[in-house]
Amino acid sequence: MATARDSSSRSTGASVSVAKKSPRIVSCPRCGAAVPWVEESSFRPFCSAYCKRDDLGAWANDQYRIAAKEEEPLSDEADSES
Ligand SMILES: [Zn+2]
Repeated sequence: MATARDSSSRSTGASVSVAKKSPRIVSCPRCGAAVPWVEESSFRPFCSAYCKRDDLGAWANDQYRIAAKEEEPLSDEADSES
């Protein structure tokens, strides 16, 4: 026995737009936490200094690793064949 209440109460449609001045919410690229895009969030789009630093570190690290890898000849394994 289902009430016909659900289908008829469709009032929360598209009229809830500019009523509140809510900040834009972004998710921290590092941990996915919701970060309001406001001046107080000085680490945006990261949620904290930790996430910001960590991500930047990983970035630099990755780039460095790739660059180093390309320059490094992989001859150690081939050499051990003989
Ligand atoms: Zn975070």
